[in-house]
Order: sequence, then C-alpha cells, then structure tokens
Amino acid sequence: MYLCISLLLANIANHGLYDGISIACSNGNCQHHTTIIAGSIIGGGTGIILLFIVTLLCCHHFKGRPLQTNLKFVNSTNNKIYKHELHDVTIFTSGIWSSRHYQSGMWHSFSYFMLSFDPKLFKVTGSGLDNIGIFTIDGTYSIETGRMGLIKTYQLGTKKRTEDFKYQMIIQLTWNSETHQFEGKWYVQTNKYPGDAVKIVCANDDNEVHLLLKRLGWLDKASHQLDISISPDNTKKSAKIPAHIPPLCSLQYALTNCIDIRLSPRKNILRLFVDCTSDEDEKRRLEELCSKEGSEIYIKYILEEHLSIIDILNHFPSCKPDIAILIEFLPALMPRFYSICSSPLDDTRRITFVYSVLKFEPLNGRTYERFGVCTNWLNKIDIGTKVSIQTRISQHFRLPLTLDTPLIMIGPGTGVAPFIGFLEHLNLSLKSIDGFDVNNLNTWLFYGCRHRQHDFLFEEQIQMYQQMNVLKHFFIAASREENYPFRYVQDQLKANGNELANLIYNRNAIIYVCGDIKVMVRDVRETIAHLLQEHFDIPNIDQYMQSLETSRRYLLDIWS
Ligand code: FAD
Repeated sequence: MYLCISLLLANIANHGLYDGISIACSNGNCQHHTTIIAGSIIGGGTGIILLFIVTLLCCHHFKGRPLQTNLKFVNSTNNKIYKHELHDVTIFTSGIWSSRHYQSGMWHSFSYFMLSFDPKLFKVTGSGLDNIGIFTIDGTYSIETGRMGLIKTYQLGTKKRTEDFKYQMIIQLTWNSETHQFEGKWYVQTNKYPGDAVKIVCANDDNEVHLLLKRLGWLDKASHQLDISISPDNTKKSAKIPAHIPPLCSLQYALTNCIDIRLSPRKNILRLFVDCTSDEDEKRRLEELCSKEGSEIYIKYILEEHLSIIDILNHFPSCKPDIAILIEFLPALMPRFYSICSSPLDDTRRITFVYSVLKFEPLNGRTYERFGVCTNWLNKIDIGTKVSIQTRISQHFRLPLTLDTPLIMIGPGTGVAPFIGFLEHLNLSLKSIDGFDVNNLNTWLFYGCRHRQHDFLFEEQIQMYQQMNVLKHFFIAASREENYPFRYVQDQLKANGNELANLIYNRNAIIYVCGDIKVMVRDVRETIAHLLQEHFDIPNIDQYMQSLETSRRYLLDIWS
C-alpha cells in the first residue's frame, strides 16, 4: 500500500493563488524609462499580436483545403496512374457507388450514392445521403489521368448540427488499378463521426453505496472530501494516485462514480483484509482464500458466484479495512458498451440502443439482491438526465461494400441491435438514392427470444423491414415456448441449412453474429461448420471456418 488517505472534515478554503507585486521608483528618470519601456512593450506586443492574427487567418484559410484546385488535380500528370488503365472509360461508370473514409485511426461505415458521368463534358454529378446529411456531388474527371475532383455539398437544413464542418467538402481521388477503386483524400474540418456502439458512463447504485458505507461505519463521513497523497513510507517507485479518482471529491462521489464496488475483490485485497480482521477464525479463513492452496475455493465461492466487496465484508464481520485499501486497490468503474440500433443516416441528433436489465438473486453467498450496474442505472435515471457517452467505432462489423452480398445476421436477444441498425441504414439508403434496387438485397435475420408474445424485441420494425423487402428472410427461435420446434437460433440455422450453406460457400455471404458470448457463439459456429461440411463435404472444415474469419466473412460482436 502506498496511499495516504484521510477525510477532510471541512471544505478547503478558497485562497487566492497569487499576491500582487509592486515596484518602487527612486529618481526623476523613472517616468521617461517607463515611457520607453512601455513604448517598446506596446510596439513589440502589437507586432506579436498581428503575427498571431495573420498566422491564425492563414491556418483558417488553408485548413481543410487541398493544395491544388480540383481542375489542376484532375489534369495533373505527375501521379502514379497505371499505364494500362489510361483511356479506360469503364472505370467511370454511372450507377450506384459506395464510399467509406478513414478518420481518427479507423475506417468508417460505407455510404451508398448515385454518380453519373458525362463523357462529353467530363463532368460528374451525383446525390446521396450519408451519416451527415443529404448531399449532391459536382465534379470533373479525366480519363487520361484516371482522376476525379469532387465537391460534395450538403443540402441546407439536413446537415447534422453536431458536425462542426461547413457544408462543402472537396474530394480528390485517383484510380488504383490494384484495388480497383478510387482512393484519395477529402478535405474538411471535422472531428466527430458517429460510431456503431456507445460506451455509457454509469454509476453504482445508491443503495449499494449506502450498504458499503454503513458496513464500514463511514456513513457520517460520506460527504467529506478525500485528501489523497502518496504515503511518506512508500518505497515503490511507480506509486501514483489512481487516475480514476479526482483530486478533490467526496467519499460518496468516489464510491458512486469512480470505483467498481461490484467486481469480486482480487486476492491482494483479501490479503490486506487479513490484517484488518480481529476475529482469529475469520482471519484464518481469509488467509486460506488468498493462499495458493485456496485458489480453488476462491474461484468457486467468490469468482464464480460473483461475490462483491460488500458480500465479502458481510461474511467477515470483524474485518474493518482502512479506506486507503478500497481507494487504492478497487478497480475503476468502467463504462459499458451498447450497440447502436439506429442508422447514422437518420438525420436526427438521436441514437437508439437496447438493453436488458440484469437481476441477480441473493443466493450462493450473495448477501443482497442486485442488478446489473449499468442496466439498473439506465433504468433508474430520469428523462433529461445528462449521460456521458463515448462512441466506439467497429472496424469490421459493418455493412459490406456491395449491396448484393448476401448478409446472414444472427442475433438473439439484445444481439439483434446492430442488425436493426443495418436494416434501417439500408431502408434509408433505399429511400434516398435513385436507382437503389431493393431486389438486389439478400438479407437473412435469425433472432431468438424466450417467448414470442413477451420479449420479441423490435417486432414492429422487423415486420416493416419485411414488408419493404429490405429484410428478405426472417426466422425466430423461442427458448421457453412449449411445442415450438425452434428453441435456439441454431435450430433455425439447421432448418435453412441447404440455402445457408450455399450462400456461404458459393455466394460469398457474410455471416454476422452478435450477442452474449456464453454458449450461443460457440454453438452457432459449430452449427455453421456442420452445415457446410454436410452440404459440401469440405475436407478441413476448421481451416475453412478460419478462412471465413480472416477474410472477414465471419464477423463477431460479442460480450459476456
Ligand atoms: P454488470 O453489473 O456489469 O454485470 C454483468 C455481468 O456480470 C453478467 O453478464 C455476468 O456475467 C456477471 N455477473 C455479475 N454478477 C453476477 C451474479 N451475481 N450472477 C451471475 N452473473 C453475474 N448489452 C445489451 O443489453 N445491449 C446491447 O446492445 C449490448 N451491446 C454490446 C456491444 C458490445 C461491443 C459489448 C462489448 C457489449 C454489449 N452489451 C450489450 C453488454 C453490455 O455492455 C453490458 O455488459 C451489459 O448490459 C451488462 O451490464 P451491467 O452493468 O448492467 O451488468
């Protein structure tokens, strides 16, 4: 232990940081000197300010702009155009194009739009909708250089207010004959793009914090400020105050918002508890739990039963730990991920996600009833509460480049969430892009719930996507319904085995699996492997399944 923590009994007084400095003048030159010095300071200062303003204006003017105009770029010959591609008009084909961009270290989602090429004027025009708004495209291209210079303009009133860039962006692209796509840069000033999952910053349950404070006898000190410093006796070089605890906060705040009081305590905490326990029998049991020989008991009775720090303290009533142990050794309360089930094309400042509240009974050593930390917190917060979120952008769990690729989406329970986002994205693309033919889609959704009457999530949306032909095939499993033949999603996969195997083996289908990791993910993989082997007699099925994964045709978004 290296922290020294005490609770301040009163608020820290708000002292000023600096005192004033005064300089005295002893002779008559003083005023003259002062004038010269003041003049130099004013002159120099004005120069610096002007330089600063000019630099700012230049940065503002050139930031987000290319070095060449689109016309110059398109006609510039000093590019790596591949000779055999010169004069190849087929690369400029009118129709539906897809594009995606790289920003903040990762690839963002595809958007689909219409492009028309005018071979007489070498003009390119287009329109579409992406995660920012409705846009039109105007530009020019050259068959000689294989280049396009585009200006993408968002329609007024459709651009998201959360995006901090102007309505136009410049895009300069060069044909790459190796990858068979146009590649290049877009010039725009922005930082934010929606991702496909959100991290919700949550808090511990007030009752649970109360239980802990009460058990430790700290209820009356809950609102006192924590004063944390490194202990003078510390010998550890790397000792530092945990980053997740703010320098000035109350004990109540730290236990509610910063520290995970739910996770089962690690053995090092139990070891420190030994010295804080007065009862000899309890001491011995604690020693046993954190010993090497006691590992099996520790795993079975603490980890597997998810006993929390409060459970442990309740099991060892004579243990009175120092507050520093909890602050120093309990981990940070982590935000939880939730898959976004709305499309970024939906032009509102709203995201949708779905969660199910977890409930754990007071059994097997758990000394009080509890709920999932984040889901319970979400359930309890009032409308209008400000919630801190961070977006998490998935690199690969995304719609494919071409819309006619068959999609096999498997998502029981809340695992259906990203697929609702996919279907909504396709639905909105369909509405906004001329020439988007819904018949090209080949979408399969396998969903599972307990009882179709009670917990069929997104029932109405799914029916709507079916009616609109965006969702071509839908299959549902119900694990708690008597006389219903499909208990799990894998039962439905088996029932459609022939077509699925064919789509995967012959039609390059992409398989997406989302949901709770426990058994479903393993069983679904086994089922698909079995179906493929049954229908195509693949000699090394493990290798084949691995190749699906490495070629990103078997994609997982799973949690435990
Ligand atoms: P926690 O308090 O964190 O408890 C959750 C887990 O702890 C349980 O699953 C269980 O394994 C274990 N556990 C704790 N105590 C006990 C106990 N006494 N008995 C048995 N087990 C126990 N969830 C959704 O609902 N919807 C989504 O769309 C979604 N998308 C996700 C996307 C990604 C990329 C990831 C990684 C996760 C996603 N999750 C989703 C899961 C989500 O992040 C949370 O893990 C989940 O909501 C539970 O959080 P919680 O804080 O309520 O529960």
